[in-house]
Amino acid sequence: MFSTLLFIFGALITLVISQDCVPYSSPYDFSSGYPTVWETPTNNDFNTDEFQQVYNSIDWSQVPDIEPHQVVNGALDSSNYPDSDPDCWWSYKQCTTPNAPGLQPDIAICPEPETWGLTYDDGPNCTHNAFYDFLKENNQKATMFFIGSNVADWPNEAQRALTDGHQICVHTWSHPYMTTLSNEGVLAELYYARKAIKYVCGVTPLCWRPPYGDVDDRVRAIAQQLNLATIIWNLDTNDWDMEPAGSETPDQIDANFQSFVSMGQNGAFANSGCIVLEHELNNGTMSKAIEWYPQIKSAYQYVVPIATCMNITQPYAESNYTYPSFAEYTGTN
Ligand SMILES: [Zn+2]
Repeated sequence: MFSTLLFIFGALITLVISQDCVPYSSPYDFSSGYPTVWETPTNNDFNTDEFQQVYNSIDWSQVPDIEPHQVVNGALDSSNYPDSDPDCWWSYKQCTTPNAPGLQPDIAICPEPETWGLTYDDGPNCTHNAFYDFLKENNQKATMFFIGSNVADWPNEAQRALTDGHQICVHTWSHPYMTTLSNEGVLAELYYARKAIKYVCGVTPLCWRPPYGDVDDRVRAIAQQLNLATIIWNLDTNDWDMEPAGSETPDQIDANFQSFVSMGQNGAFANSGCIVLEHELNNGTMSKAIEWYPQIKSAYQYVVPIATCMNITQPYAESNYTYPSFAEYTGTN
């Protein structure tokens, strides 16, 4: 009896603590077999047997020989980059159609007309329960781009995404500019984030989104060999840059959402839909997502995760997990 009470008490404490973003204990051990949480992988990570095996499984002859870019004063340096954009570097001119042979184009739009592709980056967030409750009440699924380090820190919150039926994709281990990393660095960022999601959620994602959209043909080629499709966006709410963490006022973010709602009303997406960049970065961005959802729903015929708008019914490598087709999700033919 006493032990039962103690268990309930413990569970309550865990619940309260997890709501407050205080680290909690979990059965998941990230102290070995992973890079340090929130650190870009280093030689220590590259020199393990496990990583060497992954490295040797890649056909490097299929990966273009492109020099990594530099970050200067906090921004990507394109001063010596040819204007012809030979590497299809998204950060330069939003290129999504690779130049290197054999590479799949990025997924940047939803092919279904009048459709809003719903995506949230940078989770799982330790305070996302109210936001996920809201999505659940609206029977709304989304595509969640999870950072491996956040999955390690907040495994319960990562599991909830799968339980709630959201699509989980990789958003790297530590959220760097991917084109600035060595080949080993790119591979490790993708591999360990995917491994963390598999460890905690039991599924192996088949998609990823580059942080800041920073991808080129070298990074795409490595991702493609890990069976990770590159998903970008064609509308950016700029919620990531909202005050107080960023530099734009909430009014400016509202104006962005309003213009995207107007596009839905005035036929801008009559032939194909959009993929919209939003974030579960903090309470401000999650509140904005909740605030604008009703207007988005009324302006667009369909609001769906990316797997659904791409008609992908098997979103993970595990074949026992299936996802509704577009017609099934939307109840259309
Ligand atoms: Zn991000």
